[in-house]
Amino acid sequence: MKGFPTYFTPELVVASPGRINLIGEHTDYNMGYVLPAAIEKKISLQFQRNGSQKNCRVFSKNFNTGFEFDLSLLAPSQVTWENYILGVVHEIVKRGDRLGGFDCVLESDLPIGSGLSSSAALECGMAYGLNQLFNLGLDKLEMVKLSQAAEHTYVGTQCGIMDQFASVMGKAGHAILLDCRSLDYEMIPINLNPYKIILLNTKVVHNLASSEYNVRKRQCEEGLAVLRRRYPTLKSLREVTGSMLDSCKAIMGDITYRRCDFVLKENERVLQMAEALKQNNLQKVGQLLYEAHEGIRKDYEVSCVESDFLVDFTKDLPEILGARQTGGGFGGCTLNLVHGSFVDEFIAMATLSYQEAYTIDLEAYEVLPSQGTSCSMVQN
Ligand code: ADP
Ligand code: MG
Repeated sequence: MKGFPTYFTPELVVASPGRINLIGEHTDYNMGYVLPAAIEKKISLQFQRNGSQKNCRVFSKNFNTGFEFDLSLLAPSQVTWENYILGVVHEIVKRGDRLGGFDCVLESDLPIGSGLSSSAALECGMAYGLNQLFNLGLDKLEMVKLSQAAEHTYVGTQCGIMDQFASVMGKAGHAILLDCRSLDYEMIPINLNPYKIILLNTKVVHNLASSEYNVRKRQCEEGLAVLRRRYPTLKSLREVTGSMLDSCKAIMGDITYRRCDFVLKENERVLQMAEALKQNNLQKVGQLLYEAHEGIRKDYEVSCVESDFLVDFTKDLPEILGARQTGGGFGGCTLNLVHGSFVDEFIAMATLSYQEAYTIDLEAYEVLPSQGTSCSMVQN
């Protein structure tokens, strides 16, 4: 099989989780707040040093293919998934850290391209494994940052820091209230009992997302540039108030205004959600989920009809407190706060209606906030 190492006796295994985002979409690259949690679904990456100085092989069991590369000849690939790996290796080499030849075989139970951040799981799992394998001495935040940088330079998505941060830093039973400007964070306990977090995977893979993602980021920058003409010291949308934004509405243009307005309101919602969770006010949690989805749909315009359908479907069901599309957008999963006694019925009803509407079989998963990236040595 292409790229599968001939002799493979792995020395270590890394478990690199995906994440949900309870609330706070597209706020991270605007230096705002987010509230993600790592989940049990993950990529497992097995590593071995192969004794060579520069030859590396990486094999994805999900794609049933692999590739080889030379550490001294690193360059972006035409094959998208290879760039998540090569980008991380490039960032490590760029820092001056010494790597040797290695083999890696990876396998994932994360749905790919479904808004649960398999991409960050892949990058961070690679960084974590290489750090361990070659004793690089990187701390967790350095691994988070170089994984994000890899996505910028090799993949071309100008992502914020949320996905990598959540995957690496996650803590069981908690969501992470992260301030993306200072990188200060607070672990918020998640006690949803008797409710559960159920994800419905629309199976709409967000192909548009990486290009549209960069468009949204640029629109926010355009809005900020307009605001700066009146408020020259502004560094990010994070510092903008509603009245500042409104004072520039007329000169901003409708689309730019709505993008910025969403970001301001979404930041507020993150803080309100953290507060509601602390107070165990689950009605409020649900209401904020619905409000956030409306913002995603109407103002930030990163939803899709399938996600809207599944969110709207929940609105007449009293056992469901709230729902919204989670992740960067254009498909992926909806996140639903569902009474535990209603989960099976809900999944059956949603599956049927969705199948009738779009002839797609959705997938449903219950998720629990879980620990971040971990690593274990293999006894050979
Ligand atoms: P998401 O992060 O929401 O899952 P992205 O489009 O950001 O979606 O990232 C998905 C990409 O990450 C895939 O197209 C692929 O390139 C890469 N990827 C994720 N998981 C794997 C895997 N198990 N094997 C190979 N590549 C993977
Ligand atoms: Mg991603």
